[in-house]
Amino acid sequence: MEEHPAHPEYDDGDALEHQLRPRFLRDFLGQEQVKSNLQVFITAARERNESLDHVFLSGPPGLGKTTLATIMAHEMQADLRVTAAPALDKPKDLAGILTTLQDGTVFFIDEIHRLKSSLEEMLYVAMEDFEIDWVIGQGPSARTLRVPLPRFTLVGATTRPGMVASPLFTRFGIPVRLDYYRRGDLEAIIRRSASILEVSIADNAVGLLADSCRGTPRIANRLLRRMRDFAQVLGNGTIDGDIVREGMRRLNIDEYGLEEQDRQILRTIVEMYGGGPVGAETLAISVGEELDSLEVFYEPFLIQQGLIQRTARGRVVTSRAFEILGLPVPDEIPGRDSGGPIQSEDQRFLF
Ligand code: ADP
Repeated sequence: MEEHPAHPEYDDGDALEHQLRPRFLRDFLGQEQVKSNLQVFITAARERNESLDHVFLSGPPGLGKTTLATIMAHEMQADLRVTAAPALDKPKDLAGILTTLQDGTVFFIDEIHRLKSSLEEMLYVAMEDFEIDWVIGQGPSARTLRVPLPRFTLVGATTRPGMVASPLFTRFGIPVRLDYYRRGDLEAIIRRSASILEVSIADNAVGLLADSCRGTPRIANRLLRRMRDFAQVLGNGTIDGDIVREGMRRLNIDEYGLEEQDRQILRTIVEMYGGGPVGAETLAISVGEELDSLEVFYEPFLIQQGLIQRTARGRVVTSRAFEILGLPVPDEIPGRDSGGPIQSEDQRFLF
């Protein structure tokens, strides 16, 4: 049962996305280490007739966190309940769900970094002891009732693992970090989706799409559907290299997968801040973007592509960014003396 859309893009507002979402681990392509480890934990739990340990999923949007939660429920032959932290306002909202779960139910909370601290306390006890304390009445006559819960599996997902409080994070037995997908895996995902959508696609078109989708399956699927439209209206129905090149040109996506806003971010750092360093908040204002979407959507991909670096003093562009923008690479890249890249805080993850 699905309570709320996990986030506005939960199904991309499109029933087709639902059709493309893998239901079992064998259909979840790429992320081999994550997949093989999860397979072990799922098999072990099933053999012992236990529920799966709580799972923490982190990674940029569109990499498969919701999909993995769905898969875990299917593989465990258990129910799935889906919500997002912003939809949980009062303790009774959370208690109302927890008390109606069953043994083994996979309870998915998206954007878990946005969970109110008053609810975190309840979740700690629920995760660890499978019970909650419920206060009945008010004032001096109030008393606390201990309500036992079934042995559910909490799957918490976030694009901002650094914002999740340590006491919450450490209660997850299986912390998983998803990273951008490799080209070969994206190609496999595009081929699988094309076959579900029953659209024919040429080999070179698969490669071009894989290069343009920011290492993100959701974007790969979305671009595939747009290319299907272009192929149908502008071509003969087959997605070939020419269709993809024309489609990408019309969608303002370049051969590196950069959108106009990515290029704008790079140009702004170069032109307004001499290549950096510039603080994230200042940069967000300069490009007219929410800080959150700069940090969660744009920046991680630009960093992964080696176009910007996060340093102690702010963001700096790399020589590759100058090349991509068609600008002469300066002898000295500005900001390079600013302490080097900051290491990510992700040592906390199992795999
Ligand atoms: P997230 O919850 O991380 O934002 P989703 O789980 O909603 O991402 O994934 C977006 C879409 O991408 C899914 O509906 C699914 O179709 C596709 N997808 C994600 N990961 C994979 C994968 N490993 N293999 C195949 N398709 C995938």
